[in-house]
Amino acid sequence: MKLTGYKVITGTLKCDSGLHIGGSADQIEIGGVDLPIIKHPVTGEPFIPGSSLKGKMRSQLEKKEGRVNEKGEPCGCGQESCKICKVFGAHKNTRHNLGATRILVRDASLNENTKKDYSSLLKEKGTSYIEKKTENIINRKTGTAEHPRSQERVPAGAEFDIEIVLQLYDMDGNGNDLIDFVKEGLRQVQHTYLGGFGSRGSGKVSFHNMKLDGIDFQL
Ligand SMILES: [Zn+2]
Repeated sequence: MKLTGYKVITGTLKCDSGLHIGGSADQIEIGGVDLPIIKHPVTGEPFIPGSSLKGKMRSQLEKKEGRVNEKGEPCGCGQESCKICKVFGAHKNTRHNLGATRILVRDASLNENTKKDYSSLLKEKGTSYIEKKTENIINRKTGTAEHPRSQERVPAGAEFDIEIVLQLYDMDGNGNDLIDFVKEGLRQVQHTYLGGFGSRGSGKVSFHNMKLDGIDFQL
């Protein structure tokens, strides 16, 4: 098995609604929001971990391919015909002949335009770019709102630069079927949502300016 090359997909991920990708508990400040988003430890700017985008693509493709098992775990069949295992890795399976996981999804940082909005709001107006949203749970008997929880979201309109690398091996031929599979994964993310609270309207995203090795393509 020999590595024959790389295919690089780049583009812009645009938030069409607010996006909530949860930060870790140790980022929670006293007096802060209940549900913070993940931010760069130095700049404080929001970013999209590659694992979030990759995980969403994978789980949607598993549903589409009928690869969801009873335990609800990721596919680990390791079969030659399984593009999930080939592209995303065979879950908990160390005895397969598929070779290395083909896909690599880089962390996506704010693109230049959005970075300018972010820093000008913060420096010139002293307001945060990150929106705070409060959700209530309605008491079914009294109809009153209880337990308001505040969550942070990247506001609609924010844009991130994405980069996805596919490593190809000699057994993959020209790799077109694997590239098409990744494109389908991106379409699946557009059809659903990214991050948390998708069923309540968060995380609608769309992809723009898509390029494969620098050449434009449409999703
Ligand atoms: Zn599989």
